[in-house]
Amino acid sequence: MTTTTDSAVPLLRTSGLNKWYGHEPSTVGRMAGRPSTRLHAVADVSLTVSRGETYAVVGETGSGKSTLGRLIVRLEDPTSGDVQIDGRSVMGLDREESQQLRRTVQIILQDPYSTLNPYRTVAASIGEVLKVHGMRSRAERDAETDRLFELVGYPVSMRDRLPGQLSGGGRQRVSIARALAVGPKLIVADEPVSALDVSVQAQVLNLFEKLRDELGLAYVFITHDLAVVKRLADRIAVMYLGRIVEEGTAAQIINDPQHPYTRALLDAAPSLDARREPAAPSLTGDMPNPIEPPSGCVFHPRCPAAMDVCRREVPVVTTPDAGRSVVCHLYPPSPPEIVTVEGDVTA
Ligand code: SF4
Repeated sequence: MTTTTDSAVPLLRTSGLNKWYGHEPSTVGRMAGRPSTRLHAVADVSLTVSRGETYAVVGETGSGKSTLGRLIVRLEDPTSGDVQIDGRSVMGLDREESQQLRRTVQIILQDPYSTLNPYRTVAASIGEVLKVHGMRSRAERDAETDRLFELVGYPVSMRDRLPGQLSGGGRQRVSIARALAVGPKLIVADEPVSALDVSVQAQVLNLFEKLRDELGLAYVFITHDLAVVKRLADRIAVMYLGRIVEEGTAAQIINDPQHPYTRALLDAAPSLDARREPAAPSLTGDMPNPIEPPSGCVFHPRCPAAMDVCRREVPVVTTPDAGRSVVCHLYPPSPPEIVTVEGDVTA
């Protein structure tokens, strides 16, 4: 997989990404006439992330944000749509190209146990990655491991500990060091601080910020908590039931949310502004069953602003102000693009 360094080409682009999971009924269910069902986990997601940018994906559990992260790093294949890294599609890569993709894009998960072998010292876990990616000399691997530990603020004196002997914050620093071992340009961080104490969360978020500034990394930062990405994010996408319902700069989303679901998420995160009185919760009810999504706007059963049209018609993407898109009937559809053909103007 040959990549480009053309700065005009986004580092990451997803186009019309869909992921469905099919479910066949049991034998008894089939005999009772139950049909097979389909869960649309990610629905028509298109986004771009530039070099050095932090793109946050926010939503409740079940919104499809983690599935989106897994599609970006090719832990799962999309049902349809495309993922491009540095302008090249990652679909249908051969073995060597897949290995190169793994060097460019890494994932960090909420639970570092899923990437760290509990029976190996943390230094050995990182050394193993360096070896797989071509560092033959043991001395070189040890020196590089220690450099990575220093980079993430993990004490080199604890290099021979097992993951189970570390605090949650220590384990997450090691898993970040492990991801950095291959020199990625993009890190997909899936709820990387949600299992940590609040004070440790702040330290690890500072680390993400420092690494972005020092190494020029880009992040897709997946979280259920808008407060977590308030400082870190450049842009934010809000997901609901597999769809992006609002996207904009961090300032637009945090200071002036437009979609009723974004507003509800902000109301549920009073820690965004300690001076703000917690608002009356505007998000009631549970996420609907994704196998049988509601008609029209999928948010309508929970939306305090729902109108008749919301139950009937699927809203389209609108751009109420520059740099922001919203999918909601409250906003008039964007006017069609004007195309000029040799002096003629056609809508
Ligand atoms: Fe609410 Fe209607 Fe907008 Fe959906 S389309 S978010 S139901 S106002």
